[in-house]
Amino acid sequence: MKLQSRLVIGFLIATCLTGAVATLVGITMINMTTLDEVQRKVQQDINTAKLVYRHNLERLEYQLQFIALRSPIHQAILSGNLQPLEDLRVLIRSGTYQSPEHMSLDMLTLVDPRGKVIYRAANPDAKGDVILWDSVVRRCLEEKKPESSAIIMPYDVIIAQNPLLADRIQIPIVKTPQSVEIREKVMNQGMVLRAAYPIMDKNRKLLGALVGGVLLNRDYSIVDTIKETVYRDERYKGRDMGFATIFLGGVRISTNVMTRDNQRAVGTIVSKEVYDQVIGQGKDWIGSAFVVNDWYISSYTPIWDIDNKIIGMFYTGILEAKYRDMKINTILLFLGITTLGMIIAFFISFRLGQSIIRRIRILKQATVAISSGNLDYQLPSGSSSGFDMLDEAFNNMARSLKDRDDRLQKAFQRITSTERLASLGQMAAGVAHEINNPLGGILLYSNLVLEEMSAENSSRSNMEKIIYQTERCKKIVQNLLDFARTPSGDMTPLVVNEVILTSLNLVKDQSMFLGIDVSTKLAPDLPLVMGDLSRLEEVFLNLFINAADAMDGKGLLHISSRLSSSGMVKISISDTGKGIDKAYLPHIFEPFFTTKEPGQGTGLGLSITYGIIQKHGGLIDVQSEPGKSTTFTITLPPCSQTGIGSAQPNQEGGIIG
Ligand code: ADP
Repeated sequence: MKLQSRLVIGFLIATCLTGAVATLVGITMINMTTLDEVQRKVQQDINTAKLVYRHNLERLEYQLQFIALRSPIHQAILSGNLQPLEDLRVLIRSGTYQSPEHMSLDMLTLVDPRGKVIYRAANPDAKGDVILWDSVVRRCLEEKKPESSAIIMPYDVIIAQNPLLADRIQIPIVKTPQSVEIREKVMNQGMVLRAAYPIMDKNRKLLGALVGGVLLNRDYSIVDTIKETVYRDERYKGRDMGFATIFLGGVRISTNVMTRDNQRAVGTIVSKEVYDQVIGQGKDWIGSAFVVNDWYISSYTPIWDIDNKIIGMFYTGILEAKYRDMKINTILLFLGITTLGMIIAFFISFRLGQSIIRRIRILKQATVAISSGNLDYQLPSGSSSGFDMLDEAFNNMARSLKDRDDRLQKAFQRITSTERLASLGQMAAGVAHEINNPLGGILLYSNLVLEEMSAENSSRSNMEKIIYQTERCKKIVQNLLDFARTPSGDMTPLVVNEVILTSLNLVKDQSMFLGIDVSTKLAPDLPLVMGDLSRLEEVFLNLFINAADAMDGKGLLHISSRLSSSGMVKISISDTGKGIDKAYLPHIFEPFFTTKEPGQGTGLGLSITYGIIQKHGGLIDVQSEPGKSTTFTITLPPCSQTGIGSAQPNQEGGIIG
């Protein structure tokens, strides 16, 4: 796969993973916090529902107390004249919503201390029966104090209390297979809020009790109050947000949860799971539940009667849709952010990939250039590219490669020229040796012939020329022999500065030095050098004369000596003369190399110089700027290091510049 694609895919995977993790964590967090929050709210709601219920019971109690105190009940009981009680009939309501304060009861009964009905406001004809089966009445009479509770009453008992309730009592049967068992338990029963208030004479003797009741079946005032108190008019997408229900056992008898056809869902059944926990075990149930036609975050709590029996439950619930939508919106938001992140990551990685690849190409070009021998190649320094370190390292590598290559080449040149000079020297010495003897012969016999010639002999001058030229030849040959000759053995420790000054004194007053300034800068305390005095003088004379030749009567000859860092004695002879052409530089130490007119120079001076320095275990090096200057540098080992006869080119410089 291409590097760029890999980069892009890598970036995308990274953002994708981060996005996925962020989304997951986000959803979990939302789930946890909203669920917690909503469940806490639902828990509060169910507590409010209980309060509303209790308030209703208390109101019923107060109402009975009020009736007992305001109505002529004492007299009626004591006198046996029930006529005045007829007025109590107005307190019986005819429907559930018609409930101003004085018409709010479904049942109102007066009983004697043994529980026998004296008067029934809602059904005056039915009296004389004993209603001690009602625990509220029984306990009120026993304890002589007000009692109240919700209780279960069979249909026929309810109708006996108030025939008008026959309409409201019937709970429609909504048949579902699992509902049969739950429904059968409360078949033909209703739930009634019951309260009893004891009637006593001045001596606290019990005269009877006033018993009231409100049928909860299809009386929606409690659930609607709960809904109004807790959820007000909160709506979501045109639907009510919160609901409340009263269950008789597991059957809804009063609710504001609506069925699909917008009817109150009376008669529907609670789920088995909730039923078992709340009715079966008497524990609250909180969670997400499917109620009638939608999901609600729900809370159920049991309703106990006065005998501590569970007779039903309260329910409050909030529509889950709002929180579900919130969750979906959050997921969408996270997904959107992740997608956006991925798009941005794509572009960034794409651009980054491009710039990396561009840079790699440049690097590749550079390596190709270097490997093809262009060691001067340097990468341009792109300051903002972020690759500065790499570029710098690469350039350093190229520089050190070039450095090493230069040094190798110099060493190679030095070795080849040393070898060349050595073989040239050997050859020259060989030739000189062979020519020396015949020349001696020619000279001997020429002199003999000359001696025998009379003074007037016309050939005498020719003979003298032969002898003169032969002597010249012999001198050259002698010089050649000197080139290859080892120092004479008169090697003594020498003060180099003194050798330089003696040689300089020999020439500086000669005509060729006229107009030439001479300066010296000789380091004191130089170590002694083991050497052949006359041969070294020859070396310096040679170099001084060459310098004077090059300057042609005008310039500066500067001579200096110093100790190098490696403990060698270094002597530099610089002139401001015409300099040496680059092309000649490699040849100037060769025998017979000269740029001078025939007869002016022999081309042996530097080769002899070279030979002498080499035999002293030293080096001679030249640097020249054509037209400007020339500097010869001689490096000699100090006394202690002298290994005569084995010139080892060292780091200090080469024999040829
Ligand atoms: P010769 O002096 O007889 O020519 P050398 O061996 O002494 O022989 O010198 C060889 C050549 O080196 C000279 O011909 C000259 O071209 C060059 N040369 C030597 N020394 C210098 C110098 N100081 N400045 C310029 N050229 C020089």
